[in-house]
Parts: sequence; C-alpha cells; structure tokens
Amino acid sequence: MPWRETRDPYAILVSEVMLQQTTVAAVRGYYDRFLAQFPTIADLANAKEDEVLSAWAGLGYYRRARNLQAAACAVMQRHAGVFPADFEEILMLPGVGRYTAGAVASSAFGQSRPIVEANSARVLARLFAVKESLKGGAGLKALWQYSAELLPDRNARDHNYALMELGSLVCTPKNPACTECPVLTYCEAHRLDLVAQIPRVEPKPEKIARAFAGAIVRHAENVLIRRIPAGEWHAGLYEFPKVEIEPWASESKGQDDLKNHISQVAGPVSKLERLSDIRFTVTVHSVTLRVFDMKVSRRRSPAPGYFWLPVSEIEKLPLGSPQKKVLNLLKSPPEWFEVEP
Ligand code: SF4
Repeated sequence: MPWRETRDPYAILVSEVMLQQTTVAAVRGYYDRFLAQFPTIADLANAKEDEVLSAWAGLGYYRRARNLQAAACAVMQRHAGVFPADFEEILMLPGVGRYTAGAVASSAFGQSRPIVEANSARVLARLFAVKESLKGGAGLKALWQYSAELLPDRNARDHNYALMELGSLVCTPKNPACTECPVLTYCEAHRLDLVAQIPRVEPKPEKIARAFAGAIVRHAENVLIRRIPAGEWHAGLYEFPKVEIEPWASESKGQDDLKNHISQVAGPVSKLERLSDIRFTVTVHSVTLRVFDMKVSRRRSPAPGYFWLPVSEIEKLPLGSPQKKVLNLLKSPPEWFEVEP
C-alpha cells in the first residue's frame, strides 16, 4: 500500500482517518487524489470546506473529513504548521483517537506505540484467546495491553504493520491459514481449538427503516439543490430536495408531501413523474429514497439554503453517493422517461 512507504505524518494521518470504517480497496483511489489536491497540511487547512467534502464525496462518514481539516488547522495554529511528534499532542488533534495517534507516532516518528485496529485485533485475540467482546470493555482493554507487551523497543512501525498484514493475509476472519502462520506455535486459540469462536461475533443491530421522497426539480435550464445544514445526515454536502415520509406511506401520500414541500420552497409544481428508488444505508438506518421528476411553473426565489443551478454547476458540488445516483438519473434518465425541455 502506498501510504505504508511514507514517513510523512500528514500523509499517514490522511490514510488512517480514511481507513476508519472504510476498506483499503475503497480508500486507495481517494488517498492519492486527496493528497494530489491537498499536498501539504497547510493546503488542507486553507482549503474551503466544500473542496474538502468534494474530495471526500463517496467515502461516507463525512465528519471524518471535517475533523481532518480541523486537525490540519490545529497543527497550523498550535504548532506553527509543524506536525507534532509528541504522542499526547497528536492525540489532542480533532478526530484523532488512540489508534490513529499510535499509527502516526510509530510510523512517522519511529516511536514504540502500540496500535489495535481490525486486523491486528483479530490476531491478538486469537494469539491470546481473548473470548470477550472486542467492541469495548475488558476484551478491548486486554488487546491494548497485549499489543503494548509485544511491542519491541525498536522498529515498532514494522512490527505494527506486520501484525496488520498477518491479520489481513493469513489470520483472516474466515478460514485463517493456520498451517502457514508464522506464529502458529504461540497461538492459544489454535491450541484450544477455538479459532472459529474467536473473535466473538456480535449480533448486528437490526436496521431501522427510513424513507424519503426526493425530487429533481427543474425550471428551464436550472435544477433546485440544497446545502445540508448542521445536524442532518451528510451536513455540509448538497442534496436534491427531499421530505421524510413513513416507510410504509402510500405512493400518493409521498407525492403529496413532496409536492407541498416543493411548492413552499421553490414555486408551484406543474409536473410530477416517478423515476425510481435508490436504497442505501446510513449507520443503523436502511434508507429508501423515492425519486421524482418535477417542474415548477413559476420560479420564486428559493427558501434559504436552496439554490437554482445548472447541472454543470451541480456536478462540481460535494454530493454523497445516493445524491450522485440522483444526478445520474437526471443526466441519463431511464429509456422510458422523456425529459421535457
Ligand atoms: S495460528 Fe491461525 S488463528 Fe492463530 S494467529 Fe495464526 S492464523 Fe491466526
């Protein structure tokens, strides 16, 4: 992985924040593009929030992007632009927890700091037969303790990466390659025949169904778009206007609610057609977005937070993955659907 070669604390911070809750495969392209756009910590600190969110659009968990920029600002303000080498100072940066601080301290500054992330956690849990939940409490505490005990005085960076690689390539969640494992003789889970039971699998919380009716609202060459305010999902990004409806709401109820909303924020609706459904998840929510095409007959100044923009401008805005799908519907409507001028 390219970031494993670097010793630049800023680049390591970017990669580690991106990897929180996201797979290596998904992060790879984003990491390269992000550093090309914001090559130094000063570039990131001085960027507009929209630019940062645009570079992050599609990775999800957008609070990470805002925290990353806040961390860059903190380095500029508190440390005159020089990334702190002190572990406690790194830990005080916005959005930086024990794992991320340990990764930066060991990888960039060669300090002996333990790390526990998904792959190394699995290896440690099996090596020491930790039967408790690893989500917190005694199980997680034990992992940090074992990770610290195993840490060598020198080459912590290589040691930490080796543990992660072992978890990623050999000690995999299912069917670990124990016969090829270099630490087989030390592995308690293998000795006790508990490999399949460790780590303990937690039941996944049941998803909560949510539904929205959303609209591509057009007037002449322009389309209505909204900047998502603080406190809502994906705050700071943009979205096509929507209203929340009951997941079991009838087709007509969803349409009526949406039509009323659009009439209030943009103008009287003259045309309404159903396009399709977009499904996605946000944390524990399973979301259905019913997408409609709409036209307003008379365009008013939109309500605060709403804007009329041509499609070419909307494409430049930070949009989350579901909203990019709505944009694709606008740019490439289904064959059966005829977009009127
Ligand atoms: S012996 Fe098997 S279970 Fe134990 S650390 Fe190696 S791969 Fe994992």
